[in-house]
Amino acid sequence: MQCHCENCRRLSGNFVAACRVDARDMIIDDADDQMTWYDVGYAEYAFCRRCGSTLMFRAVDRRDNPSLMVGTLDDAKGLGLKSVWFADEAQEHNTLPAGVPHHDGNA
Ligand SMILES: [Zn+2]
Repeated sequence: MQCHCENCRRLSGNFVAACRVDARDMIIDDADDQMTWYDVGYAEYAFCRRCGSTLMFRAVDRRDNPSLMVGTLDDAKGLGLKSVWFADEAQEHNTLPAGVPHHDGNA
């Protein structure tokens, strides 16, 4: 998905491309040493402690379904855009993709 919410815009400098996953399918080696979380109230963003990259975010009421930042994946083959979140908050310079659902908020 693309997320155009204010938090994603500010932390990425534009909008975020991410894929929602089931946390039970994730294996993070030494997460406490590798990552730090930043809480914005309704969501949390995870950052790499070594390079500062934004790794993922999750809604506080859906911690079991984090969204991984696609740009951090070593292999993103096979991923396709499924939806646009917070389409109503997209900045004018971004042309929203056609052919996928646009949500005012997340889905
Ligand atoms: Zn967002």
